[in-house]
Parts: sequence; structure tokens; C-alpha cells
Amino acid sequence: MGSCVFCRIVAGEIPAAVVYQDALSIAFMDAGQVNPGHVLVAATAHVENLYDLDDAQASALLRCAVHVARAIRAAFQPAGLSVYQANGKAAWQTVFHYHMHLLPRHQSDGVTLGWPAKNPPRETLAEYAGAIRRELAKG
Ligand SMILES: [Zn+2]
Repeated sequence: MGSCVFCRIVAGEIPAAVVYQDALSIAFMDAGQVNPGHVLVAATAHVENLYDLDDAQASALLRCAVHVARAIRAAFQPAGLSVYQANGKAAWQTVFHYHMHLLPRHQSDGVTLGWPAKNPPRETLAEYAGAIRRELAKG
């Protein structure tokens, strides 16, 4: 799907602060997303929703999410980390490419987005993504 923004990020056509990528999964932050500051974990193939993931994709996505979550914890010591995913228009999704959100929370934050900021500049995302990549590289 040439017009899918996530497929274009996977293809490198749209810049994003990629923290991890393998054959089946990608994790990135991007200032252009609806919820900037989240780390998004997506299938590298265009799969629209949870129901359509095959077993290898399902395993790869959760493995990616767990590893990135550990790296976020090591890099930023958030008080907590929420993981969520939603399917379809009824769930307020605007990109129909399966993805999960990793959203670190700090005690001082409000109920909604607080990390790294509600509308962080691209340089801030690149800095945070770099810190996550460094932790991932430690294994
Ligand atoms: Zn796609």
C-alpha cells in the first residue's frame, strides 16, 4: 500500500526516529503521528489489524514491544509504562496498519501524554530514540 504512512516509514520514504527494525517488526517515534512521543511498534508488512497477523508476526511484535519497553525502562526509569493497541475506525484509529503504542508515564504527569512532551520537536524525539537504541544495543 503506497499511501499507508506506516508502510512508507518502513520503506524509509518518511523520516522517523526508528529505535528498532527487523524483518517482521519496527519500532519508531515520529513527530508527525497523532500521539507524538509514543513509541509505536508495527508490523513491517501492511497488516490492517490484530486478527490478520500470522503467528510469526504476532511473536515478532510482542518480542519487539517487550525489548523496547525494557530499553525505555533502562533509559528513562518511568514510573510506569502503558501498552495499548486498537483496531479500526470505531477505536479511533486513523492509520489502518497494525500497531501497538508504548507510552511511558511519570508520576508527575497528568493522565494523558507527558513523555517526552505532548508535542516534542523532532530533535527531541531523535535524542530519545537514540537513548532507546543504545539500551537495545546492550542486549
Ligand atoms: Zn501499511
